[in-house]
Amino acid sequence: MLYYNLSEYFRKKYGKRLKKICIDGGFSCPNRDGKCGKGGCIYCGERGAGEHIDPLSSISEQVSRALSAAGDDDLFVAYFQNFTNTYAPVQVLKERYDSALTDNRIRVLAIGTRPDCIDEDICRLISEYKEKCDVWVELGLQTANDNTADVINRGYHIDVFEKAVKLLDEYKIPVVVHLIVGLPTEGIEEIKKTAEYISRFDIWGIKIHSIYVSKDTRLADMYRAGQYTPPTLSDFVEAAAYILTHISPNTVVHRLTGDCPKDMLIAPEWNSNKHKIINEINVYLEKNGLCQGSEYKKSSAN
Ligand code: SF4
Repeated sequence: MLYYNLSEYFRKKYGKRLKKICIDGGFSCPNRDGKCGKGGCIYCGERGAGEHIDPLSSISEQVSRALSAAGDDDLFVAYFQNFTNTYAPVQVLKERYDSALTDNRIRVLAIGTRPDCIDEDICRLISEYKEKCDVWVELGLQTANDNTADVINRGYHIDVFEKAVKLLDEYKIPVVVHLIVGLPTEGIEEIKKTAEYISRFDIWGIKIHSIYVSKDTRLADMYRAGQYTPPTLSDFVEAAAYILTHISPNTVVHRLTGDCPKDMLIAPEWNSNKHKIINEINVYLEKNGLCQGSEYKKSSAN
């Protein structure tokens, strides 16, 4: 096995692959509304990283629509994807999560958020759902380099990420970290630093995104102005392989590509061909005798 992917995890745990229901929970983001920043991360579009989700439906409508086409044996992840899905009072969070968990075929509550929107009350609430289903929290770190964090207008530094991971860990809530390969000012050396940083934590899951320039983003403005050049496919493959080989073999790999709707993609063109990207990563690993965790050395720094 070249890497421990999510399908394999689902197969071991549930005996089958779970389907994902991507939900727009109607949240905003503190990096857009002025609480911690304005304009958002430079790669984030108006739909808050969930361009393919219908923004006009209620949560229960989104879930019912997905379930209506499903069989009795199908199992699901309810994934709160767009914007910052812990950015509201706890009672509001509870109402919204509850309105997604309406069918016992939904076995996982997955919540995408920012580390600066995690606190003790939120952890307590999320932890309560463990009685009903599995839960995990997805944190958009993207890079461990604070200089890059400023360039991309992420709005927090790594000490905030570390605090959130520690708190989630105390409540035994699994964490999925998101990384992006190809951020402005970053090359393979910065990716290595991020991979080595991540390897210090007991991170349960990882999403490695290849960056894409989407319409209606500040990154698109930079690209048009000649201020940003996306990585080539081979640069991405080398970087993704480095990350995979330096993380724990037990970390579940949720994603190895970016996911931009074709009508929103400006560049790079290769980003629209997921199969090719994954195939190239597999070939690279095989050719070099590598696999997930083959270079993993857990640091004692944390
Ligand atoms: S934190 Fe997420 S939703 Fe908020 S601006 Fe950044 S990418 Fe967009």
